[in-house]
Amino acid sequence: MPAKPLDAVTAETMKNCGVTTSLNVEGGMAVVSPVSGETVATLKVHTAAEAEAAIAKSSAAFRTWRMVPAPRRGELVRLFAEELRKSKEDLGRMVSIEAGKSPSEGLGEVQEMIDICDFSVGLSRQLYGLTIATERPGHRMMETWHPLGVVGIITAFNFPCAPWCWNAALALVCGDPVLWKPSEKTPLTALACQAVLDRALARFGKEAPEGLSQVLIGGPAVGEAMVDSETVALISATGSTRMGRIVGPKVAARFGKCILELGGNNAGIVCPSADMDMALRAIAFGAMGTAGQRCTTMRRLFVHESVYDQIVPALKKAYASVSVGNPLETPALVGPLIDKSAYEGMVAALDEAKALGGTVDGGERQKIGPDTAYYVKPAIVEMPKHEGPVLRETFAPILYVMTYSDFDAALEMHNAVGGGLSSAIFTTDLREMEVFLSAKGSDCGIANVNIGTSGAEIGGAFGGEKETGGGRESGSDAWRAYMRRATNTINYSTELPLAQGVTFDIG
Ligand code: NAD
Repeated sequence: MPAKPLDAVTAETMKNCGVTTSLNVEGGMAVVSPVSGETVATLKVHTAAEAEAAIAKSSAAFRTWRMVPAPRRGELVRLFAEELRKSKEDLGRMVSIEAGKSPSEGLGEVQEMIDICDFSVGLSRQLYGLTIATERPGHRMMETWHPLGVVGIITAFNFPCAPWCWNAALALVCGDPVLWKPSEKTPLTALACQAVLDRALARFGKEAPEGLSQVLIGGPAVGEAMVDSETVALISATGSTRMGRIVGPKVAARFGKCILELGGNNAGIVCPSADMDMALRAIAFGAMGTAGQRCTTMRRLFVHESVYDQIVPALKKAYASVSVGNPLETPALVGPLIDKSAYEGMVAALDEAKALGGTVDGGERQKIGPDTAYYVKPAIVEMPKHEGPVLRETFAPILYVMTYSDFDAALEMHNAVGGGLSSAIFTTDLREMEVFLSAKGSDCGIANVNIGTSGAEIGGAFGGEKETGGGRESGSDAWRAYMRRATNTINYSTELPLAQGVTFDIG
């Protein structure tokens, strides 16, 4: 029996999630699945006027939502997590259809949403500030945290839903409405998530104002409407460093708040004492998982010269045997690249590496499905020097491997790139480990020991330094970015002493 056409699978999955939006709008924006390169839907794009109207609606929603007690707001997120659990399979499939992830990674992304919702429910009773000692008698000083305002969320194609939820779950318990501009390459998953949230909103009842969570469909222009609007208090933008360079200054110019989650050029260091088998498995997932299309993908590897001949041939063997295939039909570990331009970017980087003396293993295009789909064998490139394409993020499965003899020199190379997102060291030597994690060690927002660069848990704050943008979202105290802080000093005495002993006697 022939397999169902992909557009029919898409329509069915969207319907299961509760999406009622038309998926066949004439002249609308084409949504292309990287699985086959076919168009699976055409969507209506929001106009500038519609974006403005949506922002106004969010602003009105803020006035109501900020007054709902935080634990009640948490109840909405609890219900959302319940609905997500019910729709996990369908949402996971949408991630596979739109982003080409393996079923396990698609489901993992939905699990990440469930996890951050659970985290946020607990957080809704813990949005606390400090009580601070004051120098004035009969006074009390404290911090209070209040809802911030409308949160505009811009997301990238490679994580079509989890980063939205890292922001949305926190923002909702913090008292902020959310407005989501998903990647133009993965808008369907966004509509599906919104439909699932709508089910939770229906159960939650009237306390939730209309427009509490909205999705805006379109490309950069729609994102810009949020970026430029003074009504949007916080922009949380996930995507390329190129995008961040445009968005960051625009938000700063209007004194808005901004969380930037941008590109990385993540590396690992394999030390002589490493557990080689563990390192091999961690590097394989970090470098080849999601077809190299994670912000945290391992892109550079520094291997001590004494173990180079142990780990690199084993890695090449793993690369040669890894399964590449249609994620909807096979249990392949590596799915497609997102599109033709991603493939061309990979080819260009490999050509550049070869011209600099690099030796390439893999990287060949695989004939899987129609010509419009871009599947590749992940590539491992032995580089004589840390230069050329090694210094930038190419969003494809390329791992550049280099040798080192001196640990400090390896650390220096490790940090000598623009990206500052994720990093890993493989060692059982306590000194090397501690140096890597110290002030002179990895300069990334994520520094791991004996695990790979990707696959972060939601409990920690996620984000990176330098060209990664400096933003933090998800766990730890990232919630503070979604609230405004007030310092309150209360005088319960009968005197009016001024701080620092200043006097101002008006007689
Ligand atoms: P991209 O920058 O092309 O697009 C990301 C989003 O930004 C899209 O929704 C796009 O429409 C929007 N956008 C682009 N220009 C804009 C503008 N001028 N104003 C407003 N919005 C604009 O990125 P991509 O190709 O979708 O994703 C891959 C990139 O994202 C990689 O660099 C990857 O490392 C990065 N990424 C980072 C993280 C992180 O958490 N640090 C997570 C996922 C992806």
